[in-house]
Amino acid sequence: MRALVKARPEPGLVMRDEPMPTTGPNDVLIQVRYTSICGTDLHIRDWDPWAAKTISAPMIVGHEFTGVIADHGADVEGLPRGARVSGEGHITCGHCRNCRGGRRNYCRNHLALGVTRPGAFAEYVVLPAENVFPVPDHIDDRTAAILDPLGNATHTALAFDVIGEDVLITGAGPIGLMAAAIVRHIGARHVVVTDVNPRRLAMVESFGRARPVDVGSETLDEVMVDMGMTEGFDVGLEMSGAESAFNQMLAAMNHGGRVAVLGIPPGNVELDLNAVIFKGLTLRGIYGRRIFETWYKMSAMLESGLDVSAVVTHEFAADAFEEAFEMAASGEAGKVLLDWT
Ligand code: NAD
Ligand code: ZN
Repeated sequence: MRALVKARPEPGLVMRDEPMPTTGPNDVLIQVRYTSICGTDLHIRDWDPWAAKTISAPMIVGHEFTGVIADHGADVEGLPRGARVSGEGHITCGHCRNCRGGRRNYCRNHLALGVTRPGAFAEYVVLPAENVFPVPDHIDDRTAAILDPLGNATHTALAFDVIGEDVLITGAGPIGLMAAAIVRHIGARHVVVTDVNPRRLAMVESFGRARPVDVGSETLDEVMVDMGMTEGFDVGLEMSGAESAFNQMLAAMNHGGRVAVLGIPPGNVELDLNAVIFKGLTLRGIYGRRIFETWYKMSAMLESGLDVSAVVTHEFAADAFEEAFEMAASGEAGKVLLDWT
């Protein structure tokens, strides 16, 4: 089968023939239709320090995908051939305390698809049946390809009660944009999204129905006055990984505010801990998605009017992966898809 591979411990990716993966008794074999490029895939392509210490080459990359079931192991029930599926890319151990307690998203031993286990940027991928999410008819293939990052956005947006609250999102990347659309959908009052990239900010109003703030030219204090906010934001969603964005958020939070942190900084960050203490802020780290509660929530929201399709801005044939990765890295795009059909 064709697969996109980190072949050697150095920058770059190659498309090459790989053996078909073997399907164990509790696994399914999925014929991949569409995949979507994540920032993680860019780090792996570029072979940055995180990738160098995390990936053992050769490794098939990629974890955002949708496809159809091509085959399944003898012990798998309820996942017939031809079923449209996506899947949870965190393969959990099943025997740690959190797994046994039903909190699979906190598994301390998990493997990650396309990082520490062969990934989905290929004609076929094998996944344990318990990681498969059957895609309902109301979700089209292109949206199905981005359920993984939509899950990150959903898990973060639902970390705290946002109904009737003023929400600040730092970072208008695909995940920040989708989080804005979600908190709008579920009833936040003011939603403000910061970024420094005009292309990203241009999508905030139309896509997220939120107020864009270019922190290069406007301050959050000015914006709050403009919106009639007198105290500060109730809920913050950090989705940039930028130290300055995080500190701007801490400064703009109301006392007792709650902050969910998804953005991954490139290194250690310096935070104004005094703001956290004296405002009594709650900070909560967010990793991945709840398995599978987040998947059901996002599917239900997509059925009840949430539309994230516009966050997919580009689509390439899988063989044009180099162009696709360049587009994803440029900051000019939303989500970039690869077509494997
Ligand atoms: P992205 O890189 O496309 O988006 C980040 C955005 O932040 C960009 O638009 C960038 O211009 C903006 N930004 C940079 N500096 C800023 C600043 N000072 N103020 C405001 N905005 C600023 O990434 P994405 O795919 O949307 O993902 C968002 C973040 O979440 C990334 O850091 C990613 O690594 C992280 N992530 C975390 C998890 C997890 O499980 N915790 C999962 C997926 C992604
Ligand atoms: Zn576990």
